[in-house]
Parts: sequence; structure tokens; C-alpha cells
Amino acid sequence: MIPFQPILDSLKSYEAGKPIELVVREFGIKPEDVIKLGSNENPFGCAPEVVEIVCNAATKMSLYPDDSYLDLKNALAQKFEVTPDRIIPGNGSDQVLDFACRSVLTPGDSILINRITFAMYKIYALQCGANVHSTESVPHDLNAFLDLTKAVKPKIVFLCTPSNPAGDALSKNEVYEFLNQISPDTLVVIDAAYMEFGSKKDPKKFIPAKEITDLYPNVFYTGTFSKAYGLGGMRIGYGIGNSELIGNLYKMRPPFSVTNLSAFAATEALKQQKYVNDYLENNLQQMKRYEKFAADNSIEFIDSYANFITLFVRKHGKTSSEICQSLLRQGIILRDLKSYELNAIRITIGTPQQNDRVLFALNKELN
Ligand SMILES: *Cc1c(COP(=O)(O)O)cnc(C)c1O
Repeated sequence: MIPFQPILDSLKSYEAGKPIELVVREFGIKPEDVIKLGSNENPFGCAPEVVEIVCNAATKMSLYPDDSYLDLKNALAQKFEVTPDRIIPGNGSDQVLDFACRSVLTPGDSILINRITFAMYKIYALQCGANVHSTESVPHDLNAFLDLTKAVKPKIVFLCTPSNPAGDALSKNEVYEFLNQISPDTLVVIDAAYMEFGSKKDPKKFIPAKEITDLYPNVFYTGTFSKAYGLGGMRIGYGIGNSELIGNLYKMRPPFSVTNLSAFAATEALKQQKYVNDYLENNLQQMKRYEKFAADNSIEFIDSYANFITLFVRKHGKTSSEICQSLLRQGIILRDLKSYELNAIRITIGTPQQNDRVLFALNKELN
């Protein structure tokens, strides 16, 4: 018997959103007829200029990347108005979240998360042998975070804003007030995977990476190219902090952790702001159709600042799993939130045509 470390007994691997290939295999639906709205990807894909850059760079596959990633870091540095030494790129923002956990946590330490939040914080912390504490409410409640921070003295607090999978968002003022009241020894991770969507809807929800990491050296701000920028398959994200924090996280980094094609794609994607902005606009407009559908059908939902809406379907005599399974058979992939102990479904806001089909199918399902 291989002596696996005991921590593994309490670990479950991450349950990823369903891929198109699964629907093709199980239900014989043509790939082009599958609507994938379960993983919060950009339904329009990435900008055509990004595709072109990657195609043209394909011959560079044989070469290791520039491990300084300076072109990418300079582009991010410009966007966030920080110096490049305050940025760490990662194989998805997932990887920088992992760096944060591994550079701080030792067995027996604690972390604090929201009751409903991105599943990987817990998984990375458990991998380090840490204990995981969580608040009780579905949207973030910073008073509860404050009380629990005092009670359990976590080494890391994770705030996901806008939050996945609930969609709520914290305002900059609320976050600063929280940070003013906690120990500067506590690392606070601000997971801003959906910040582009949240700040478009309400500027008060915008958390400026430079300002927050200048004012609070214990803040680590993370972002991703997987959502607004349409590069989920390229696995590229980043973290921003003060240079001392970033220097320590760098020690956890494997070499060449981002492929060169991914770095080229992300650098180009940052130049295509109009493309991203058109998508953000579509997201806001199309979100209203789901809100109206929910209101018309007395379905509860939380006002969403992200690119998805979470519908609480408990009053309709069907479980979220039954609804998701039925739509899956019709080629529509949504996210069942049963694993979060919620009778709710999370729907990524799609293109207008995709949303037509989803709303038609949901309407049939619920009425
Ligand atoms: C999607 C997501 C991420 C991770 O994205 P990567 O693809 O690893 O960059 C991180 N946090 C939240 C809340 C997410 O929804």
C-alpha cells in the first residue's frame, strides 16, 4: 500500500462544469447544437484578433516561453497601473490561488470562506492540511466575516467579489471598512474573477487593485482571462499584490507555468477592449431577460454582478437536478448547485440566440 498522506481521505476532487463532448457522447446531439452555459465562459468566444495571434504563433510551440512573461506583465501593469514586479501570472487564476495557500498555510492553520463560494479555496487549503471555516449566509456578510476572523484567527480570508456562484458583490467601501478592522497579519484574497462585469453594472463595486494593495499590504488581488476575455481554454490568470508578497509567491511557482500561446493570447486580449466591452454590454442587457423571467414565474434570485444568474427553484415542485438533467437532454448545459446544498441553478448569460432557447426550455420545464 502506498502511504498516501492522511489529508487525502478528507479531499474530494473538483467537480468541473460539464463539457460539450459529454452531451455529444451521452445524448447524440451535434456539437454545434449544444449550448454551454454552465461554466461562465464568454459565449461569443475571444476576439478574432486573439485567434489570429495564436494561429500565427503556433510554430513557437517547440520553444519554452519567456519565463519573465514581461510582455504580459507590462500589459497587465498598464491596465492596473502597478509596476510589473507586483504581478504574478498563473496557469489560470486557480494557480495563483494555490500559490497563496501554499506560501502561507501549514497544517492546523485555518482559512475563512463564505458559505457559498468558489470550491477551490477549500480544496487548496485542505491540501495544505488547514481547517476551513465558513460563514452562514449565501451572499457575503462582512460582519459575520469580521466576527469569525476574530474567533478563528484564520491565516487567509477569501472574499469573492462578484461572488461565484451566488452573484452578489461587495462595494469598495465595505471591503475597506472590513480591512481596517482586521489584523495586517491576515492575508485577504480578493478573487476578482468577475470584476469586469460587476464594475460595469455598478462602479461602487469596483475594487482598484493598485489602491487596495497600496493601502493594505495584506491583500492579494486575483483576476482571470477565463471569463470576460474568453480564454478559459488557455488557462491564464494573474495575481496582484505588493512586491514583497508577490516575491514570496514566486517561490512557489513552477517554471514556465503559463504556455507561450496563452501569454500571447492574453496580451492581445487586453488590447481588444472594445470587444470585451460589447460583451459586457450584451451581458447586462440579456441578464434583464432572465430577471424578468424569474419575476414572472415567482422564482427567487440574487441580483447578479457577474456573467450568470442563479435561480432558486424550490417552489416549483422540481429539484434543480431534475431541471438541469432535463435541459441537458435537450443539449443545454447549466450548472446544478446541488453540490452547494442549494436547490438552485446557475445559468451563464449567453448570446441572445442561446438565451432564446434556454428561456423557452425553462419555461416549458417550469410551467
Ligand atoms: C472561474 C473562476 C476562477 C478561476 O479561473 P481560472 O480559469 O483558473 O483563471 C477563480 N475564481 C472564481 C470565483 C471563478 O469563478
